[in-house]
Amino acid sequence: MKADVVVVGGGGSGLAAAIEAAASGADVVLFEKNLAPGGTTARSIGSITATRTPHQLRLGIVDSPDEHYRDMELFAKHESRPDNDVLRRILTENVPETLRWLCSLGVEFFGPVEEPPHKKPRMHNVLPNSRAYIFHLERAARRRGVRILTSSRARRLLVREGSVAGVEFDQPDRPGQVIHASGGVVLAAGDYAADPEFKRALISDAVARTEPINPTATGDGQRMAIEVGAHIINGDMFGGGVRFVPPAKPSWISRLPPSRWLMRPTNIALRYSPRSIVRRFVMGFLTTVLVPAHEIFDAGAILVNKDGERFADETKAMVFELAYQPDGVAYIVFDGVLAGKFSRWPDYISTAPGFAYAYLSDYEKNRPDLVHKADTLGKLAALIGADPARLATAVERYNASGGTGTGASDALARRGRPEIRTSPYYALGPVKNYINYTDGGLAVNERLEVLDSQNRPIPGLYAAGSTGQGGLLLKGHGHHLGWAFTSGRLAGRNAAMRGRG
Ligand SMILES: Cc1cc2nc3c(=O)[nH]c(=O)nc-3n(C[C@H](O)[C@H](O)[C@H](O)COP(=O)(O)OP(=O)(O)OC[C@H]3O[C@@H](n4cnc5c(N)ncnc54)[C@H](O)[C@@H]3O)c2cc1C
Repeated sequence: MKADVVVVGGGGSGLAAAIEAAASGADVVLFEKNLAPGGTTARSIGSITATRTPHQLRLGIVDSPDEHYRDMELFAKHESRPDNDVLRRILTENVPETLRWLCSLGVEFFGPVEEPPHKKPRMHNVLPNSRAYIFHLERAARRRGVRILTSSRARRLLVREGSVAGVEFDQPDRPGQVIHASGGVVLAAGDYAADPEFKRALISDAVARTEPINPTATGDGQRMAIEVGAHIINGDMFGGGVRFVPPAKPSWISRLPPSRWLMRPTNIALRYSPRSIVRRFVMGFLTTVLVPAHEIFDAGAILVNKDGERFADETKAMVFELAYQPDGVAYIVFDGVLAGKFSRWPDYISTAPGFAYAYLSDYEKNRPDLVHKADTLGKLAALIGADPARLATAVERYNASGGTGTGASDALARRGRPEIRTSPYYALGPVKNYINYTDGGLAVNERLEVLDSQNRPIPGLYAAGSTGQGGLLLKGHGHHLGWAFTSGRLAGRNAAMRGRG
């Protein structure tokens, strides 16, 4: 088999690469190892942060890539490691065009909304959900003549005279096939959130044991590239934390078809509807994907495992100990005083920043499966299948473990947080730890060429999205997808150009 450009991966970055390579005149083959394209892109919330968009212009927001570049630093400055300034510049300068390009393919965005410390509203949210990206991009790729081969897993890169010249791949009935690529290979195979070996070696044992949101993100792109001399930057970085388990049945909003004919009028209606109606629309979706805000723990809620035992300081950003609890699940336990507090602004249980806030009543309405309420701790334990004596002990010990100024150093100390004393008692959950994504991408240059250990380009090899993150810090919302589509488009074009000689 032959092609000008071979793309490995049918998520956001791979589809973008394939479309742009084909638009540049290349004959393109895209491999997707799963039954259908999608990847982590299709499991994301779907926000993209960009400037100079038609949405900003319509609202009279004066903004620029340069301001975006500078605001990204406000997110990144809490990191003790350097950012990749070249890639950050590429992202902020090209993401405005990327967003317009996505709109031209049929993707509808709602917004922009604010997300401090961005100084301007820049976050655009896809309608009705992130599967819309895959729907429109896959259609555009097929129209451009991209050959999309599903259930086809790239296994190894072929190297000839120092250049990457193709890929070995497996299909269920025909393992060990070969495709030659005259222009180049674009690795767009996502991250290694689901690969215990990579996670244990680069991050930690607790993270290796923690469930990924995308169970097929196994770092194949990184592994294949390392075999030909590439290296990973920021391998220990990841995004994740405690979140509610997904609903047994997807919400009606997540089942809406992403067609423009439905989404354009929905978008216009949302723009002119009262906030209360917009809120009802988004709440049905948000309570299926959101994480509990850490403020609820700071205010006095505790985490107990399924036996009813407390096991960690729940005020930490990431409760790694959860990975070692029975079935990896826990419940957020609090009392009636806290329930009253988290029923109104400014105390919300979850948020999509600037977009919507979910209070206890929203969970009661949209996710009754997660809300357990009883007038005694014993009855609450029965509702969640925990041991009543252990739950009672966990709450008693917490209450007794110290008020303000005790100086208690024990990780399980209360340290000034209110006691849990007032009926009714609540348990929200189950919650689990999830790894959303890992940030360890291959080192790449400004042309998205993969670099070897001496930082020299490996001829014929490009990387995009999470696979080609190259040390770029993508803090805040909407930067990972912005990078996936933007880097994919550029890598696809560059590989096609190389093919033309
Ligand atoms: C819950 C959640 C919410 C998120 N929300 C946002 C958000 O709102 N905004 C934002 O910017 N980012 C968000 N992200 C992050 C963002 O979704 C990802 O960073 C982004 O989608 C990565 O895109 P990608 O193309 O690099 O990888 P993917 O979308 O994962 O695509 C990689 C593809 O490659 C395929 N593949 C892998 N190996 C092979 C192989 N050997 N052969 C063939 N195919 C292969 C995979 O099956 C997959 O389809 C979120 C992530 C999660 C989990």
